[in-house]
Amino acid sequence: MEDSPEHRPVHRETRFDADVARYAARAKGMVASEIRALFSVANRPEVVSLAGGSPNISGLPLDVVGSLLNELVVDHGTIAMQYCGAQGDPFLREQITDVMSQVGIDASPDDVVVTVGSQQALDLVTKIFCDPGDVVLCEAPSYVGALGVFAAYQCDVVHVEMDDEGLIPEHLENALARLTAVGRRVKFLYTIPSYHNPMGVSLGATRRSQILDICHRYDVLVVEDDPYGLLGFEGEPYRALRADDTARVVYLGSFSKTFAPGFRVGWALAPHAIRDKLVLAQESATLCPPTFSQFAVSTYLANHDWKGQIKSFREMYRERRDAMLESLADLMPATTKWTTPKGGFFVWVTLPEGIDSKAMSPRAVTARVAYVPGTAFYADGYGSQNIRLSYCLPPPDRIREGIRRLAAVVEREMEL
Ligand code: PMP
Repeated sequence: MEDSPEHRPVHRETRFDADVARYAARAKGMVASEIRALFSVANRPEVVSLAGGSPNISGLPLDVVGSLLNELVVDHGTIAMQYCGAQGDPFLREQITDVMSQVGIDASPDDVVVTVGSQQALDLVTKIFCDPGDVVLCEAPSYVGALGVFAAYQCDVVHVEMDDEGLIPEHLENALARLTAVGRRVKFLYTIPSYHNPMGVSLGATRRSQILDICHRYDVLVVEDDPYGLLGFEGEPYRALRADDTARVVYLGSFSKTFAPGFRVGWALAPHAIRDKLVLAQESATLCPPTFSQFAVSTYLANHDWKGQIKSFREMYRERRDAMLESLADLMPATTKWTTPKGGFFVWVTLPEGIDSKAMSPRAVTARVAYVPGTAFYADGYGSQNIRLSYCLPPPDRIREGIRRLAAVVEREMEL
């Protein structure tokens, strides 16, 4: 009976993808980032990829993590594999306040909302604040994943200029004055103050305080994204913006770079009225953040020297940063400029006049080196003379080889 021709499933040719009118207007803003398109070629073994920004977790003690996870399942499995509250596990939230004290924030577990990576925190913050057409101020350039979220919520991104010391306060003030004069309400400033992605630069104390003053005067919320804050190569970590203004700053943190991204555990610290909305938004998005991942991170923090692990991550990244900066200085044509990161994963390069980084990209891949063209980090098409290089994944000798190949490509470009 089941197999008789009239009961056999029919394959119906419905082309949903071709019918644009079916989709919500917000889906139009959902387009593959240039980084995603690059990954398939950049991951070929013969290519030195200076494109990807995934953390290098090869130094994690997998045996230790493995036995902690085993104990977690055996001893606490029925709780660890159950739903939990939408705000996140209380014990992990308490541990997060300890992490936060490293950047000068005196938080209570009540201020914390656990999220699926800080990426979800970005999504939830934008969801609760932004209607289509609302203005979000971003650094120029800015994190590609944040631009993707802002596009999905149909925000109007206005970029604010940066230099080698981060966001320029005067430009922020000018942008706010200009937008206020034409009656546009800015929903928030999105900023990555420490070890910026993609520029690698950091805001010093004076600029931090100027930026908070300006946002106070214009009554603008600040979304501080700080996934690299503990990955500085010199001295103490920067003091977070939220450490000096808990009423105005929503802080986003993550275990992706200090432990491992696969657990997808991040968090937001927010004033309580905003926190309540975030918890409701979290509830409708996921019911609760993944309990098992939270317990895994929590067990790791409680039983492993996580501060020592971060120190060894920092040393590894510093050695790679040095290899990249030295090779750039030795090999790149004289008119090339680049930033000097004091932490994090990225160097931002300004190519010699007249070179288009996007057009050069396939030629670089042919020469077996990959980078991300600068245009990926702008909502408005700028960045064609820039590239983002990351030093987090390849070992120092591969970095040197990658820069040697890149320098040869740039030199050829200059002759075109
Ligand atoms: N913000 C910035 C600036 C990032 O670079 C990243 C990851 N590349 C994220 C947020 C998201 O990180 P996660 O969701 O893994 O916490």
